[in-house]
Amino acid sequence: MPAVQTVSGAVEPEQLGLTLIHEHFFSGDEAVSVQWPHVRDREREWALARESADAVKAHGVRTIVEPTAMLLGRDIAALHRLAAETGLQIVPCTGIYTYDHLPQFLLNRSADFIAGLFVHDIEQGIQGTEIKAAFIKCAADEPGVDERIEKVHRAAARASLQTGAPIMAHSRPASATGPRQVEIFLEEGVAPEKIQIAHTGDTDDLDYIERLLDAGVYIGLDRYGLDIFLPTDRRNATVIELLRRGHAERMFLSQDFDPPIAAGLDWYPPEVIEQLEATGAATNWSMTFLFEAVIPALEQAGMTGEQLDTMMVQNPRRWLG
Ligand SMILES: [Zn+2]
Repeated sequence: MPAVQTVSGAVEPEQLGLTLIHEHFFSGDEAVSVQWPHVRDREREWALARESADAVKAHGVRTIVEPTAMLLGRDIAALHRLAAETGLQIVPCTGIYTYDHLPQFLLNRSADFIAGLFVHDIEQGIQGTEIKAAFIKCAADEPGVDERIEKVHRAAARASLQTGAPIMAHSRPASATGPRQVEIFLEEGVAPEKIQIAHTGDTDDLDYIERLLDAGVYIGLDRYGLDIFLPTDRRNATVIELLRRGHAERMFLSQDFDPPIAAGLDWYPPEVIEQLEATGAATNWSMTFLFEAVIPALEQAGMTGEQLDTMMVQNPRRWLG
């Protein structure tokens, strides 16, 4: 298998080890950051990222796949420093994180042009560095797959075909975006094993999930702790049933944790975070909840060590390699 790009250079797929497939260290609004940098608390953001990095390392995690793309505040210098200081392997992405809006610059350019931007990050390097992207991120959410979102998806597909890089697509099961996203990728000729439909674990509708699995793609059961979308016990029951049906080789476990968002530094102000916590929407959300509570519960419910290894070591190796 080909080498996998991390912010510290390429590694062999066998070196990835225990991997969290979907966690964020840094994020922030890009326009606000440039226009009003005084509202960003970079020191606190750094301390929070460092805290999560140290915490996952203590659980034996060797690699974090970090899908912070354009419009979510990708910061390759910060990721590089974090990897250097902690020894964690951090796998960076290219791509665009949008549910609807595109800046005029991209709105008025083609899918092929956007694909060229992604290819640049994969082949030349990100943000003027020689750090190369390992995968391509795109998103569809409540507004659905409109013309703009479709263009970004086609761009992701074309960049994947040119480079071999896999695709991670943020999805919203409540809006049934997954099947349409898969359809676009397959239409463009992307192999199903290059595709990961993130956030599929936000539903326990097994028919919906198996429709995706039948297409041969990977699914992210990757928002553990975000009870606002689906509580942990229902996520666990879904994982156990999917394992029972033999789908381990297409499943990823993760938390989609985002320290600045969790701390009220980015999407929501602190008072909203407090309200959310009071309602139990994300009480257990962290980068280590999986190890502290979820994996023990899944083991108790019958998950084998081999299945866990498949989801957290072998699958990341195959999808990225
Ligand atoms: Zn995410």
